[in-house]
Amino acid sequence: MGYLKRRIFQGMGAVLPNSYVQGFLTASLYQGSLKSVCSPLLNCYACPSALFSCPIGTLQHFMVTGNVPYYGIGTLSVIGATVGRMTCGTLCPFGFLQDLLYKFRAWKVSIPVWTRYFRYAVLVGLVFIIPYITHENWFSKLCPMGTLIGGLPWVTMNVNVRSMIRALFWVKIAMLLFFVTTSTMVKRPFCRAICPLGAISPLFTKSSFLQLGWNPDTCTRCGKCQKICPVDIRPDRNWTNPDCLRCLDCTRCPSLKLTTAFHRQPFGVPGASPAGVTVAGDLSGAAAR
Ligand code: SF4
Ligand code: SF4
Ligand code: SF4
Repeated sequence: MGYLKRRIFQGMGAVLPNSYVQGFLTASLYQGSLKSVCSPLLNCYACPSALFSCPIGTLQHFMVTGNVPYYGIGTLSVIGATVGRMTCGTLCPFGFLQDLLYKFRAWKVSIPVWTRYFRYAVLVGLVFIIPYITHENWFSKLCPMGTLIGGLPWVTMNVNVRSMIRALFWVKIAMLLFFVTTSTMVKRPFCRAICPLGAISPLFTKSSFLQLGWNPDTCTRCGKCQKICPVDIRPDRNWTNPDCLRCLDCTRCPSLKLTTAFHRQPFGVPGASPAGVTVAGDLSGAAAR
């Protein structure tokens, strides 16, 4: 997918799920039938213009009410089994915001791969266990996307909401500012280290219908794919990396292309293992990234 095409998709992913403009004009929430649809994006349902519900909000709602979140898990499973993490790479508004912020001229740093494990702690702790015990949506209370498109608009529009500001609001603002700032220096820090949706969707990457294919015969190991990758993956070393967003930016290189689970070697080149490069010319057994 070309750079411009992905940006257009990301723009649509930000605008279309938030197109209930009336919500801002009347300071109200959309309550129609679409609100029961769980979108595969981190997009706060409390935004005045939001049409759909957030999958993480849905999971928490079921935990708070003491029910198994079949609906949220089922929706995420169907989407994950089909396109893998492509919704993260091409549609999610908070991923888009982080991609844009990284364009700023700033000191650039890498974060260690092990930071990805925080996402699982956030998922288990803040989305499942703590909401179940406390009957409160703790991830949503702290979510920076919720603060950006839900909390801030409401505080700006509604004097009653403003009067209810407590210390927690300033904690949320601090977290939002932290991720906005770090996103100028680190590629998608929230997606890679914190997002609970980013903990669920990688479970499907290796088995999803859409797959990435790599050609060891033509790859020169130049590493340019990692430089343009929004999550710092080096697909020539592990093209089935679970963290791959299927954004397809790297398919600008002719040695990589989108394929399907039924045609995992679209270049017709057998003998390469995604777990570590085994083809002649690179015996480094390099790590996944
Ligand atoms: S991992 Fe990133 S892109 Fe994916 S849902 Fe979370 S915030 Fe959005
Ligand atoms: S896949 Fe393409 S961009 Fe990546 S290392 Fe190989 S030749 Fe370079
Ligand atoms: S490996 Fe390629 S498709 Fe996957 S996230 Fe990186 S650039 Fe996008």
